[in-house]
Amino acid sequence: MSRISFKRKTVKLRQVLGIRARLALLAVILVAPLMLERARSLEATRSKEIALASSEIVSMAKHSAEAQREVISSVATLLKSAAFIRASGGGVSRSCDILRASLPLNLPWIRNMMIAAKDGRIQCSTNNMFVGLDLSDRSYFKQAQLSRDFVFSDSIISGQTSAPIAMAAYPVSAISNEADAVILASVNLDWMSKIMGNLGGRPGVSAVLVDSAGVVLAAPSEEAAMVGRSLDTLPLLAAIAEPAMNSEQREGSLSFIGADGAQRSISFVRIADTAARLIVSIDEAAVTAAFDREIYTAYVQLGLVCLFVLFGALLAAEKLIIQPITILAAMAKRFGQGDLTARAARSRLPAEFVPLARAFNAMAAQLGQRERELVATNDRLTVIASIDMLSGLANRRGFQSRLDFEWLKAQQCEADLSLLMIDVDHFKLYNDTYGHPEGDVCLTRLGETLYRIAADTLGFAGRYGGEEFCLLLPNSSASRALEIGEMVRLAVLALEMPHATSNHQCVTVSVGVASTLPNDGQCPGDLIEAADAALYAAKRRGRNTVVEHG
Ligand code: GH3
Ligand code: MG
Ligand code: MG
Repeated sequence: MSRISFKRKTVKLRQVLGIRARLALLAVILVAPLMLERARSLEATRSKEIALASSEIVSMAKHSAEAQREVISSVATLLKSAAFIRASGGGVSRSCDILRASLPLNLPWIRNMMIAAKDGRIQCSTNNMFVGLDLSDRSYFKQAQLSRDFVFSDSIISGQTSAPIAMAAYPVSAISNEADAVILASVNLDWMSKIMGNLGGRPGVSAVLVDSAGVVLAAPSEEAAMVGRSLDTLPLLAAIAEPAMNSEQREGSLSFIGADGAQRSISFVRIADTAARLIVSIDEAAVTAAFDREIYTAYVQLGLVCLFVLFGALLAAEKLIIQPITILAAMAKRFGQGDLTARAARSRLPAEFVPLARAFNAMAAQLGQRERELVATNDRLTVIASIDMLSGLANRRGFQSRLDFEWLKAQQCEADLSLLMIDVDHFKLYNDTYGHPEGDVCLTRLGETLYRIAADTLGFAGRYGGEEFCLLLPNSSASRALEIGEMVRLAVLALEMPHATSNHQCVTVSVGVASTLPNDGQCPGDLIEAADAALYAAKRRGRNTVVEHG
């Protein structure tokens, strides 16, 4: 049972692995490395594209940071020059006049410049409404006095415009030990955001300038709503910014999976002279979405190409291999069924199959020739098999088939059919007297005589066996047969072959004659039997005589 099912499975497998399947497999094997190479190159291009996009954005971020540093540096330079004027210029009012006059129009990010006294009170301002304001409790003021260096504050919401600003402070004490005033400038953060404009408008890229307290100082215009807001209120941004905020490095890059599950890489740069950091986050999936679509299209195209190649291979296989095999198989089948004229039409076959077709055709031609020869040999053998070599007449087999034929013919034509049975008298004695070879010569001469008589009488002579001959006489009545019997007897006598041990001193024959009108109630054997009986009677009558049956 299991053996049978195993055999069935093997047969099924063979069917599945037919020539078409094998060619399809071959096509796949040929195309697969191409596909794999293409897929590999697409993936490599994707990675390269991501790296390129990242490095481009990182370099843009650096440029933005540099631009922002220059803004801050311009503010610091301006404050330093004001501090220098304050230190060297003497009185408060003169310094104030110079300060107002020097508010540069080409630095539009400076909204306002002020000079605060040691106690924090604003002595003069380019905007009068701030004069007298006490800044002594502001951290940037205290830090500037303490550090005697330039300070850039965290984000502050302007009491006047409710817009986020940053304060820059520079103590005059940094230039002159005796001096105690602090030069201040409020910086419009809009300008910072404008500088970051080149980072905006890119899918998957978000950029923020964050101060040390985690408040967004600037962002590209699309994300302007975030400016002034604490990262605590922006959970996703906070999660993104956290690694950058925690890093002690001046600049760096990190890659991590964000709270939203997206693979992100961030780059951060600390703005020189400030605690602010510019953070650029890249959502890799969003950045590469467009490219992924291209890759998808490329894969679809690749799939189509493979299908096309596969289809083409099958089509070519059908035309170039299966069809010729079918043609040759059909020809071989016809040939196997005995149609030796079957030939393969070479014009319908591809060149590779032509030698096979030629060999097939040659084989077919040769087999045809062999068969014709075989038929001829067979015919010859059939003739040989029915001829007696000694007498040259038909042998018993040949005589029998001729008798059957003449019997049917006579039956159809309702004609007489006669038979003579001819036996050599005392032939044993002839052999004994003259020897067996001489006996053979005698039989040959008798054969020649009978052949001649058969030709003259339109009869058919044969050697029935031993020294017994027969002569079949179609269309011959009993009397005519009797005449011919006598003709035979006399012809043998006329040969005058000596036979010393016979009563007649020469070779003689006894003849039994039988005639009939063949009908369904008789058979050829009956005619032989009757002629035999007549022969027996002729022998009893003393030999060398002709006796008719009945
Ligand atoms: P009968 O007159 O009664 O016919 O006597 P017979 O001697 O002719 O008859 P018998 O049957 O006694 O002998 C036949 C002989 O014919 C015996 C055999 O040796 C001989 N004979 C048969 N075939 C051949 C042959 O092919 N060649 C020779 N030389 N002799 C043959
Ligand atoms: Mg005899
Ligand atoms: Mg005999």
